[in-house]
Amino acid sequence: MIVGLTGGIGSGKSAAAAQFAALGVPVIDVDVISHQITAPGQAAVLAIADALGDDMLSADGSLNRSAVRSKVFQDASARKQLEGILHPAIYEEAQRQLQQVCNTAPYCIIVVPLLFESERYQQLIDRSLLIDCEESIQIARTMHRSQMSEIEVKNIMAAQLPRETRRQLANDTILNNGSLQELQENVIAYHQKYINPCIVSI
Ligand code: ADP
Repeated sequence: MIVGLTGGIGSGKSAAAAQFAALGVPVIDVDVISHQITAPGQAAVLAIADALGDDMLSADGSLNRSAVRSKVFQDASARKQLEGILHPAIYEEAQRQLQQVCNTAPYCIIVVPLLFESERYQQLIDRSLLIDCEESIQIARTMHRSQMSEIEVKNIMAAQLPRETRRQLANDTILNNGSLQELQENVIAYHQKYINPCIVSI
């Protein structure tokens, strides 16, 4: 079984994913994959340099993220080209990594921040697990974690699905308003469900 773990920015996806991993669950993360495939010499990096110019590369041959960000900020067609290279490469690598781990455990987790915005990731998973929290907590945690202003966090949140929509679409939900220990108790409860599919289907 493949469980898609999702949630808005700062909701606690990475924290929950780390807790599942500590229980021995294989965890794949599309953000991690996005970094892996943009390491020096990776095919996606070379394709991006071909499409958008060599100035998209850092001296070590990795993707120069700030150069890419400013390029696609000004140029919608460059953004389309970038996404046309990155999105399929990330998806392909996610499928490859899932194939490697899916038979090694009763279930595995793939962390997809924009799961409900992406049909193909929804097709890849068997269940979705939403990490959800009050927006005021989400904002405070993100500001603290990423040294962002409230406006910056709110702008990112505005580009994501509304909280209510995520809550309606999810198969399973963990409310992460409390402590990390409370989060862990909920993670363990879902772990018990997922390793015993009879409970999941009730
Ligand atoms: P996401 O991956 O969804 O963007 P994170 O897991 O990085 O969110 O969580 C955002 C920040 O909030 C991190 O600094 C994390 O350590 C912290 N955090 C997450 N859940 C809790 C919690 N229950 N109690 C306290 N801090 C938390």
